[in-house]
Amino acid sequence: MSELKLFNSLTREIEPFVPVHEGEARVYSCGPTVYNYQHIGNMRAYVFADTLGRTLQYKGYKLTHVINITDVGHLTSDADEGEDKMEKMAATQGKSAWDIAAFYQADFENDLARLGIQKKQHPRATEYVEEMIEWGKAMADKHCYELDSGLYFDISTVADYGRLARAVTEEGEGRIEKLEGKRNAGDFAIWRKTPEGETRQMEWDSPWGKGAPGWHLECSVMGEKLLGFPFDIHTGGIDHREIHHPNEIAQNQAFCGCGGLSEARNSGANIWMHNNFLVERSGKMSKSSGEFLRLQLLVDKGFHPLSYRLMCLQAHYRSELEFSWEGLEAALTRLKRMVIAVERVKDVVSEPMAEHQKFAAPLAKFDEAISDDLGTPVALTALEEALAVKKVAPEIKRAVIEHMDAVLGLNLFGLTREELRIRPVSAEITEDEIEDALARRKAARAEKDFATSDAIRDELIAKGVDVMDGDPLGWEWKL
Ligand code: AMP
Ligand code: ZN
Repeated sequence: MSELKLFNSLTREIEPFVPVHEGEARVYSCGPTVYNYQHIGNMRAYVFADTLGRTLQYKGYKLTHVINITDVGHLTSDADEGEDKMEKMAATQGKSAWDIAAFYQADFENDLARLGIQKKQHPRATEYVEEMIEWGKAMADKHCYELDSGLYFDISTVADYGRLARAVTEEGEGRIEKLEGKRNAGDFAIWRKTPEGETRQMEWDSPWGKGAPGWHLECSVMGEKLLGFPFDIHTGGIDHREIHHPNEIAQNQAFCGCGGLSEARNSGANIWMHNNFLVERSGKMSKSSGEFLRLQLLVDKGFHPLSYRLMCLQAHYRSELEFSWEGLEAALTRLKRMVIAVERVKDVVSEPMAEHQKFAAPLAKFDEAISDDLGTPVALTALEEALAVKKVAPEIKRAVIEHMDAVLGLNLFGLTREELRIRPVSAEITEDEIEDALARRKAARAEKDFATSDAIRDELIAKGVDVMDGDPLGWEWKL
């Protein structure tokens, strides 16, 4: 097997993965703020994190993987500005902030499952407020100062603040709260006092008054409590490289009394990894745009969720990926081809993957690709090469495909071709009705009654069914 190498945003280099604890891998991935549904861009971050987790398991490490749930403290801007996302949505929907959090967490977990993302630990920020206050107390004297609005972290008190961020952009600067009394523009809230005369649904007593923790604090605290410092890998979307993660790192340095960042472990994690964005031209990804792109919308349009997982894997996680319906349909077709190829080895029991010469090349290619900073695009072609190998014992082929799919998470042995039909919820005809019409059409054709056969076909077309005579993939119809 090749050595696993990963791109570390902190050092900006591809580095070999060396676990902190022998035989183990401990990963923390920044999770969602559960004030709304997740969009498919958010879900790209978890497909990436899951593929990383699966790769670590494939390399033999025992994985501990946390995706936290932010149910308090995240303001409408990442940099301490605007209203609290949870309280705002609660007010809009006339529900409690706690109900909002529970509802959207459940929806998020459902999306994770539909995308084949393995079960992780999902601690909620509100379960760790005590610990966050303890952290605040530990940092307060040396690293923080109080203003009327709360306790602030002074970023000049730690070495190498902001090393993770590529460059301080004007846009980034513009996102930082301009607040009277701040010592440095980049200082951020550790504790946010509830303003005089206001009450919040989510608030706690603290040495700095009644209020709520700042958003960055929760990840530092839960990472340390659940994984210990330093842990192996911290992940998030590329936007977190600019503000959230530099702030987390500063808190971690302060809490552990650690020095500068030329030693990655002082940041709290040895490796920091960031997935690039999923982008969409018409702005349908923004949660403020009304009907935004959620996984459920893809399902409603008839796409199996795993076609979206495949779409993500087709791009390297560090590249931007543009969403389009055509692209999704292409991914679905590719998935169908894989599932159809797997049908031939579905009914056998896999044999322990004996060295088999015919699979040596695709297996080596797969391992090399995935070991090289998660090269999923090439790993997918290796999978397809393995699927195309002919005249081999199906037991061995099955073992090879299972071995690769354990990393890719496409559930190739669980999926059926029927599940991969494009079947929009808006369809006006059921599958049984279609099958019935096709049987009648076949009978008519057998009797050379082409008028009836064409009429049935036109009827189907009117209901949105595409009849695909002689389709190379063996699909007889499509909605
Ligand atoms: P949030 O709920 O805003 O904290 O975002 C959850 C995760 O999704 C974070 O890791 C973000 O960095 C990531 N993320 C947000 N938008 C996108 C996008 N368009 N593409 C990929 N990842 C994203
Ligand atoms: Zn975080």
